[in-house]
Amino acid sequence: MLMLGVYYTKKDAELNLVDTLSLKFKLYVLLGLVVVGLLFSGAIGYFNMYTMKKNLDSLYFGSLVPVTELNQIQTAYNKEILVNFYQLQHHYIAPQEAAEKMDLSRQKILSIWDTYRSHFKRDYELPYIEYIHEEVLSSTLYLKRLIDLVITEDLQNLNQRSTSILLNNITHMDNIFNKIITYENSVAQYERKKLLASYNATIYNLVAVLIFILCSVVIVMVPIFQSIQNNQVSLVNASKKLQVANKRLETASITDALTELYNRRYFNLVYNRELARCIREKHSLAFMMIDIDYFKGYNDCYGHLKGDAALKDVAKAMKTSLTRPGDYLFRLGGEEFGVLIANIEEDQAYKMAERLRRNIESLKIEHKKSKTGKYITISTGVVVLLPDKNTDPEAILQIADTNLYTAKTHGRNQVIITEVKEESSTSLSA
Ligand code: GH3
Ligand code: MG
Ligand code: MG
Repeated sequence: MLMLGVYYTKKDAELNLVDTLSLKFKLYVLLGLVVVGLLFSGAIGYFNMYTMKKNLDSLYFGSLVPVTELNQIQTAYNKEILVNFYQLQHHYIAPQEAAEKMDLSRQKILSIWDTYRSHFKRDYELPYIEYIHEEVLSSTLYLKRLIDLVITEDLQNLNQRSTSILLNNITHMDNIFNKIITYENSVAQYERKKLLASYNATIYNLVAVLIFILCSVVIVMVPIFQSIQNNQVSLVNASKKLQVANKRLETASITDALTELYNRRYFNLVYNRELARCIREKHSLAFMMIDIDYFKGYNDCYGHLKGDAALKDVAKAMKTSLTRPGDYLFRLGGEEFGVLIANIEEDQAYKMAERLRRNIESLKIEHKKSKTGKYITISTGVVVLLPDKNTDPEAILQIADTNLYTAKTHGRNQVIITEVKEESSTSLSA
């Protein structure tokens, strides 16, 4: 889309949309996505587990339990009835006992068979089940007759007629049950395969869902994190700009706009700070009060704009004359300047003030209205002292001011200096 000469792609539009969302909302979106993903995978897991449970039930109750029942019927025929009959023939047990035991086995066969028959059967299984049912009924009917003979103790008759019939009967039933057990086992195998398939499907489903959720989270996260990063970058940029602006503001608040020297406000701060430091470190302190001579006359003669330019030139020359990094130069107001120098002796301070004076004079800024010469000049009042806790800050300034006044009244373009030896006594030297 072309908009105001800028091309916006679809991706840009998406990013902008995400960019406009608040960080909190973006995190809510992420959280929501993760929660929905977890619920979804939980639901998938639950339904798959339910299917697996059904498969397991079908395997257990549809195949394993029936096989166990059929095995019990086989045991009743092969082990119990046959063994009891054998023991009866060899007179190991009494006929009455044998009859009771065989009848119990017969009833067991019928009861277990009924249970087996009541389980769920598929339509195509029913005819074969009904056939076996008929066989079970006729077999147990035969057993009933046999047991009746045992009860009546007609053992002679029993021995002759029944041994082979019973053996045939049991072998026949054994064959039938072997077949059906083989069939049930094959069904169990089939059910097991189904269960394993369902298990694998569950795992695949869960893995697929998790991959899907992971991909969705990543897809949603990329623009969100990009936008968070964008926010962060713009925040960092804004904070950098703010820092620069603050620095400018700070500098502006302590700088004189015309001369770019420190202003009066900053002088008050630095003066008290430097004084305190010199008291603490037992260093000397020098303060110079400088005033341009006959500057009103200069303004009157050359105009205010030229006056401003001259002020700037004087300020610049003074700045370059002060070479030590700890020296402070202020515009105290109008055409008045102040210099603050820590850790300096009286003679050095005097030399420095003299150098300032000479440098201004050697600028050779024409000044027709000056009574001290052809060029702009300055007068300076200096005070040097070793301050202590009894030092009165105002008194120091006052001494410098008095010296400046003296310089003015003694013909201007000169330096007057006082070294304060002790708090109470002052001495003047020029
Ligand atoms: P003196 O030698 O006794 O100091 O005489 P002076 O004329 O310098 O002293 P005065 O205090 O009478 O005049 C100071 C003049 O400085 C007045 C004013 O016009 C000028 N002045 C003060 N600030 C500025 C400024 O920012 N720009 C300009 N152009 N002139 C200024
Ligand atoms: Mg003045
Ligand atoms: Mg002046």
